Amino acid sequence: MASYFFDHAATTPMRQVAIDAWAEHAGALNAGGQYSSGRAANAVLSEARETIAELLGADPVEVVFTGSGTEADNIAVSGLYRAAQMSGGSNRVVSTPIEHPGVLEPVKALAASGAQVDLLHVGATGHIDLDDPANAAMLAEPAAVATMMWANNETGAIQPVERFVELALGAGTPTHVDAVQVVGHLPVNFHALGVTTLAASAHKFGGPKGVGLLLARRSPAPAPILFGGGQERGLRSGTVDVAGAAATAAALKEAAREMDAEATRLAALCDRLIERVPQLIPDCSVTTAQPALPGHAHFTFPGANGDAMIMLLDVGGVEASTGSACNSGVNRMSHVLEAMGCEGDQALGALRFTLGRTTGEEDVDKLLALLPGVIEKARVAGAF
Ligand code: PLP
Repeated sequence: MASYFFDHAATTPMRQVAIDAWAEHAGALNAGGQYSSGRAANAVLSEARETIAELLGADPVEVVFTGSGTEADNIAVSGLYRAAQMSGGSNRVVSTPIEHPGVLEPVKALAASGAQVDLLHVGATGHIDLDDPANAAMLAEPAAVATMMWANNETGAIQPVERFVELALGAGTPTHVDAVQVVGHLPVNFHALGVTTLAASAHKFGGPKGVGLLLARRSPAPAPILFGGGQERGLRSGTVDVAGAAATAAALKEAAREMDAEATRLAALCDRLIERVPQLIPDCSVTTAQPALPGHAHFTFPGANGDAMIMLLDVGGVEASTGSACNSGVNRMSHVLEAMGCEGDQALGALRFTLGRTTGEEDVDKLLALLPGVIEKARVAGAF
């Protein structure tokens, strides 16, 4: 049976250009070697770094290859905090309650080790309003680091990152932006944004899994949080994955070329879903509110059992996720929906469809045909 994949925000299939670049350089030796094969590997790495820097509006030296988006987020958040502590700076951290665990967890760990954490308020649409005086006041006070995601991975809500950076920098606070859902999908210019550090992840735009990108200014720079051979400006010690870097550059180049047309195409498919699903299924709410990522459509179906929805869709050939953390088969309330003020019964019936490069009209047709029956059965399961 054909499968209809609606989980592109979790990961998207690797692009052929990335597979080809990866295969071509899979045999690369240590880019740190001073001999010919090492220099050859380093030349591939440098070219990848230059391509990525140019596409993201950064200098090549500001591109740090990491092992994941999560690792890039950790190095940035914990490293900027550590740098502030080393120079006798503030122990405050400003963040939001809707961050991905890649930011949420290091922030929690900093709180447990004595940081004062202030979380910006999130509105019912999933957006953070920086004209809200309470939010603006949190950013007006100096902090060791202020961190905010560019777009939310569950709802797709795009946050006012330009204003965030402007307000934080006004107080002299270094800023981190988690752009994992944005890089490769919307234009990103690191220098124009003025942010201190920015995280991306290759597998979200058709690159390989296990390659993250941290863009980090020379100053202020994060202090290292892992220690070793000093590769990647000392921020990410460890032998660099040359093939992964080359594949990431190839994927990003293609994603950038297709970006505008793809955003328009995906937004039209999503609009169809967002219009049709509430017509077909009574008592459903559309969570995704504009401005949002072009490929995100998030709904809640009150009373429907989350695990049942996923399994019934899967049986019908549609792959999607609740968007919330599942632990040992127990469908837990999403921290994002909770922060938006969504109530228990509604939040537990959450379903996220994320569209991408391989999604076409026929996928949307299939989903619309399958979904009403799935929700009906999942509501019966939810009643027990
Ligand atoms: N940040 C956001 C917003 C994400 O959506 C994800 C992945 O889903 C990450 C960070 C973590 O990226 P990775 O899977 O490369 O660790």
